Amino acid sequence: MTKKENSGPKKEVQTLKGMRDLQGDDFFALQGFYDKAQEIALYYGFKPIETPILESEEIFTTSIGEGTDIIDKEMYAFRTKSGDKIAMRPEQTASLMRAYIEHGMQSEPQPIMLYHYGPVFRHDNPQAGRYRQFYQFDMDILGSEKSINDALVIKSAWAILEDSGATDLMVDINSIGDKECRAHYIRELTNYYKKHINDLGPIDKERLKNNPMRILDSKDEKTIALNENAPDAVTYLCSACKKHFKEVLEYLEGMNIPYRINKNLVRGLSYYTRTVFEIITIVDEKPLTVCGGGRYDYLGRELGSKKDIPAVGASFGVDRLLIQPWYKKHAPRFLKKPRMYFIQLGMDAKLKSLNVIDILRKCHMPISQSLSKDSLSSQLGYAEKLGVPYALIFGQKEAMENCVIIRDMKTRSQKTVKLKDLALY
Ligand code: ATP
Ligand code: MG
Repeated sequence: MTKKENSGPKKEVQTLKGMRDLQGDDFFALQGFYDKAQEIALYYGFKPIETPILESEEIFTTSIGEGTDIIDKEMYAFRTKSGDKIAMRPEQTASLMRAYIEHGMQSEPQPIMLYHYGPVFRHDNPQAGRYRQFYQFDMDILGSEKSINDALVIKSAWAILEDSGATDLMVDINSIGDKECRAHYIRELTNYYKKHINDLGPIDKERLKNNPMRILDSKDEKTIALNENAPDAVTYLCSACKKHFKEVLEYLEGMNIPYRINKNLVRGLSYYTRTVFEIITIVDEKPLTVCGGGRYDYLGRELGSKKDIPAVGASFGVDRLLIQPWYKKHAPRFLKKPRMYFIQLGMDAKLKSLNVIDILRKCHMPISQSLSKDSLSSQLGYAEKLGVPYALIFGQKEAMENCVIIRDMKTRSQKTVKLKDLALY
């Protein structure tokens, strides 16, 4: 290092743009949601899985598809020093399907119901509730094309939202058909946009070439107006797809889940077939998506399966959910309010302190402490401030006699308890 480089103040280190440290209440809020969502997912029959954050890049490029925001500009993809092309998962569905194929889950009784959660990465434009590392919770049913599974996924997601305090929810739903009927639809759609090509912005012009359905998802004002009169997918459904869609809607009606058919809903990923849906909440009179999903019957083949693997899933954007005004914060199960303040005085007591705390932990007594403090008054002050019902005082004398003093913080009455009797007490 040259002298010049060595001098001057060091630049402060900081997190990357769009990424953040989660601590305190923010950390607990996320864990609390995961706990609640898992509990509900387990009730409905989903089992847990955790897949790696890094995967081969092609798993995402072949499945999510070109012409999508994720593949065109948002995915963190790079080469390792040995030249492998890998990517940080921008979503969880493709990884899940990779796992299903890799572990031969097709030979188990079908369908396979799985939930998973964790961070996903997209080089998105950071703004309120939008990050480059954000958190998703997914529920998926693989190995069955039955419409009841579409309904089950929507119902489970709905239950998680209701339990989190959501009130004015609505399912936006559409069916984009299968290979056959969709090809017909895309032809009609392409013809329509070609007629109005001068109204399309540069991004949508490009999409017309490689992924015309994505134009329906455009955020361009002019295109949004044009989309009003675009042909809708439901008109072009073949009879099998029509029947499937009708059944899904009947299940929703049977469960009293309000829905509206949104003919422009295609979702931002290429692998969807038949059902696509979003669960919407209204914020400042505008619809906001808190959960999205759909059916992806051909994804398995695209990832190398010899047979079709019909599947359907839903995915929550957890960050966005946690900041909704109606969101009811769930506390994570492991978070216990301290019921006792541990106070120690003198070196002999300090030495044995951790053993006493271990006794308390083993009998599930949540405590708070400030082991690095020495004075009685400052420790008692903390206990008062916390409002814990009891303080445990462990001083020089108690350490010698293997006992502790339990102090009732309200009445200020004190009682001496032998260490060997503490758990029982
Ligand atoms: P958008 O159109 O808002 O970018 P999307 O179509 O990219 O959404 P999906 O791929 O469907 O989103 O992801 C599911 C959910 O993940 C979204 O409904 C949203 O709540 C959340 N989400 C997407 N991108 C981000 C982000 N950058 N930061 C936080 N949450 C996000
Ligand atoms: Mg996006």
